[in-house]
Amino acid sequence: MINTQIFEHINQVIKEILKKSLASEELSSQEALELLKVKGKEFFALQYVADRICYEKKQNFVTFVINRNINFTNICYQRCKFCSFSLPATHTDAFLLTIEQVREKVIEAKITGCTEVCIQGGINPDLKFEFYLDILKTVKNIAPNMHTHAFSPQEVFYISKLYENSIEDTLKELKKAGLDSIPGTAAEILVDEIRKVICPNKVKASQWKEIITCAHNLGIPTTSTIMYGHIENLIDRIKHLEILREIQKETHGFTEFVPLPFVKENPILSQLENYPLHPSYGMDDLKLFCVARLFLNNYIDNIQCSWVKLGPKFAQVSLNYGVNDFSGTLMEENISKSAGAEFGEYLSPEEIVKIISEAGKKPAQRDTIYNIIKYY
Ligand code: SF4
Repeated sequence: MINTQIFEHINQVIKEILKKSLASEELSSQEALELLKVKGKEFFALQYVADRICYEKKQNFVTFVINRNINFTNICYQRCKFCSFSLPATHTDAFLLTIEQVREKVIEAKITGCTEVCIQGGINPDLKFEFYLDILKTVKNIAPNMHTHAFSPQEVFYISKLYENSIEDTLKELKKAGLDSIPGTAAEILVDEIRKVICPNKVKASQWKEIITCAHNLGIPTTSTIMYGHIENLIDRIKHLEILREIQKETHGFTEFVPLPFVKENPILSQLENYPLHPSYGMDDLKLFCVARLFLNNYIDNIQCSWVKLGPKFAQVSLNYGVNDFSGTLMEENISKSAGAEFGEYLSPEEIVKIISEAGKKPAQRDTIYNIIKYY
């Protein structure tokens, strides 16, 4: 039963857009843009629709994965302006894990019941192609069933340069060594004018798209992300969503979409004179979750909140705004912490279950590709 009262006295244009969503019709970019601007009663109507269509799709379940991060090096020469995780090799806090240290972390992950290791690192000029293969083989030697969620499209691009081969052949080799899926990070905002400012040395939007599409076509699923709340505007956010939706229509390879608000405390991006920041506040975050649910609903099933970026309290609130996944336990999360995020390195499965239950949702543990492992 649709609560029609929620549509009383709201703007006619917004009402029509929301009704389209309830009827599972595809929203245009312009319509999604209108929704990103709503306030007041229209905001609550948007929340109602996002929650409702999420409920219809997921029957009130909110999932999470038991995983750990392995950031194997923070040495990186890319110098993205929003990043304070990376350091030059000469810095006293710079590190590069040995394969033996990676091994220890994988053993720890296995002991603590992780089903996934999420492996990412800086673009470190000292690395060789074989090092990346060795990381994957190490995981599979210790725990053949552990899902390796590894290497962003930026890293895949770099690995292909080390291998002196095409993206496709590189991905094939990585897959052979044990790669199961790829994080859809390094996407930031898929608009080159923005990328030129915030991450001038990263792959272009078209290259990101090419790497992701190639992975999907080889049967390697990926996540998808957006980093927002910096110098981009609402139109850029919608252009980004549009690109993700187009890719998904073609490949069906995205497992989820994860909005990541820019953590502004440390990075240089906060100090750029000609590019004022447009930080996202709570309402912006919630609207983006809702719009992602409405805009992507027919294509990407899972919308994830990042408790590391949002904080567990706000992430819990987001579960009523179209979000159906609470991400993972994320033991040892270094990247957001370096950028100034205050929230811990780890939430236990018990804490996550409590947070989800108290939001009125049904918790379930999943694997990386959204097979349910355990209901609570
Ligand atoms: S975001 Fe990634 S590629 Fe960019 S500087 Fe940081 S570690 Fe390097």
